[in-house]
Amino acid sequence: MKRRHLLFAGGAGAAAALGWGARGPAIAAVDRGFNRFALDPDAPEPDAADLDMHQGLFLADLHADCLKWDRDLLQWSEYGHADVPRLHAGNTALQVFAMVTHSPVNFPWRDCLSADAPNHAAWLAALQGRPFRSARGRAFYQMDLFWDAVHRSRLAADTPEIRPILNASELLALIEARSAGASVMGGMLALEGGHWVGQYDPGPGVVSAEIRRLYDRGLRIFAPVHRFDNPLGGSSEGCERYGLTPAGRVALQVAEEQGMMIDLAHASEDLIRDASELLRNPFIVSHTGVRAVCEGLPCLPDRNMSDDSIRAVLDSGGLIGVGYWGQAVGEGVANIPRVMEYIMEMAEQRGLNGADHVALGSDFDGSVATQISANELGVLTATLRRAGFDASTIERIAGRNVCRLLASGLPGGSPVIAENIEQALQKGFV
Ligand SMILES: [Zn+2]
Repeated sequence: MKRRHLLFAGGAGAAAALGWGARGPAIAAVDRGFNRFALDPDAPEPDAADLDMHQGLFLADLHADCLKWDRDLLQWSEYGHADVPRLHAGNTALQVFAMVTHSPVNFPWRDCLSADAPNHAAWLAALQGRPFRSARGRAFYQMDLFWDAVHRSRLAADTPEIRPILNASELLALIEARSAGASVMGGMLALEGGHWVGQYDPGPGVVSAEIRRLYDRGLRIFAPVHRFDNPLGGSSEGCERYGLTPAGRVALQVAEEQGMMIDLAHASEDLIRDASELLRNPFIVSHTGVRAVCEGLPCLPDRNMSDDSIRAVLDSGGLIGVGYWGQAVGEGVANIPRVMEYIMEMAEQRGLNGADHVALGSDFDGSVATQISANELGVLTATLRRAGFDASTIERIAGRNVCRLLASGLPGGSPVIAENIEQALQKGFV
């Protein structure tokens, strides 16, 4: 038995040894420990004008890992970062729920992350009593959790309805419903690393069949890699950091053809370069910082984007979702607009409109210490206003850019529906 299997068996055995009564507090303690807050004491207090603008936004967040944790998506939890009631209180209109299935722990320490390291995601799944033996099982279980929450939200009177967004028409309907004052929030499913796709058989038939199964279950945002190199491609924190493999090329092409957005968060520079030559649609990096604006502690340089990778996203017409946590942007919320400005300046140097290529990527519940709360996102609008961003720029960063990309990239997307979505957004929200 390989070392990782021994370590994993130890974790699963310890979880099984704990009765259900003992598991609840243990799961909550792990959740609290990993999903801490580092709220910025110097963050601006939103004034009436900030809150007025904030309430009028269509706010889309490209990445949160809520499904990994044992909290009911429909209940306001006292710990962890986000759930539907807290996101709704913060005026989030569209939330991408990502599935994390394999998280190597860097122990014993090396200067890169390997698939062979102890796997925190599997250990946590075992502790939670979820399927833990395979990354695929963990992913499909989390998708089931999302659909269960969608169905329950339709019946619950005291919580907003989650509207799953599977095509461009559903996005238009969501915008129109929110514009009319309905208590609804869009939800999209994303995969953070297709580690098992092509793992045993990298043939194109097997890879494309698995991508279609994910699509059929509702996946609309596909990130090939997470924090370690996998059979599809290399990670920015992996030990080899290679580009797209043949299986990775098939996976991305099929995902794009099906109408998924491609997310290159965590991808190696070689992977981003390869993908930019392969893909036909704009692609995104859902939650990140940029290396040039985040130096020294607490920044994680390998985790964040190089200038070359930023240029590749911009040249595709894509979007970069800026995160709220210190390892991405540095300490203090004032760094969030600094990172955005850097990306916008790079876009303008390339003849693009800078504000069209920045979005929000909170990484709530992503085992990071977030500097803004899901239920108090008015702080973010206040921060952007204090940095001198005008209303149009804030509207685009907050959600219009995401809507524009989805209007063309999702199934049923077309210039006509993109125009209808743009008009629906212009009607405003109260
Ligand atoms: Zn991530």
